[in-house]
Amino acid sequence: MNIILLGPPGAGKGTQAGMLVEERGMVQLSTGDMLRAARTSGTEMGKIVADVMDRGELVTDEIVIGLIREQLDTAKGNGFIFDGFPRTLAQADALGALLAEKGASLDAVIEMQVDDETLVKRIVNRAAEAAAAGQPVRADDNEDSVRIRLMEYYKKTAPLIGYYHAKGNLTSIDGLGEIAEVKAAIAGVLG
Ligand code: AMP
Repeated sequence: MNIILLGPPGAGKGTQAGMLVEERGMVQLSTGDMLRAARTSGTEMGKIVADVMDRGELVTDEIVIGLIREQLDTAKGNGFIFDGFPRTLAQADALGALLAEKGASLDAVIEMQVDDETLVKRIVNRAAEAAAAGQPVRADDNEDSVRIRLMEYYKKTAPLIGYYHAKGNLTSIDGLGEIAEVKAAIAGVLG
C-alpha cells in the first residue's frame, strides 16, 4: 500500500509516518529528511538548497522529484509513505507517472487538518524543546520561516487537496487531537 500524508508544516506527518514504519513495515520517504541529509553531508545539491530551505521556501521540483525517483528504485518495504512530497501539482503528476512506471498505484491520500495558530505554536515549541535538550534546532523552525512555510503550503500544496479529491483517493482527518487519536483516524482510513 502506498500513501501520501498531506498537510501543512507541523501537522504531525513525520510523527505518524514514524509509527506506520514501526508497526507496518512501511518505508517513509520524507523529502525534507533527504534534503537535510544532503546538507549535512555537504553535497553540491545540499549547498544549493540550504538557503531556500532556511527561508522556508520550496526547493525546485526537479531536485525533489530526482530524490524520490532514486528512492523508488532502491528502497524496499511494505509500501511507501510519502511525507512532505508531493508539494506541488507538478510533483503530484510526476509521482503518478513514477508509480505507474513501476506498475504501482497510490492507495490513499490522507490530509491532516490543523489550524495555523496551532501549527506555529507546535513548531516554535519543537524548536524550544530541541534547544533545551541540547539537540540541533532546525534553522527553519522559527516564527518567520514558519509563516513563509505556511504561505508556501497554501499557495502551492493546498491545490493538491482538490487534485486528489478529483482522483477519488483523498480522505481528510482532524490532526488536532492527541497523537493516539490521529493515529486511530489514520488506521481507520488504511484498515
Ligand atoms: P519538511 O521537513 O517536510 O518540513 O521540509 C523542510 C523544507 O525542505 C521545506 O520547507 C522545503 O524548503 C524543503 N522541501 C521538503 N520537501 C519538499 C518538496 N516536496 N518540494 C519542495 N521543497 C521541499
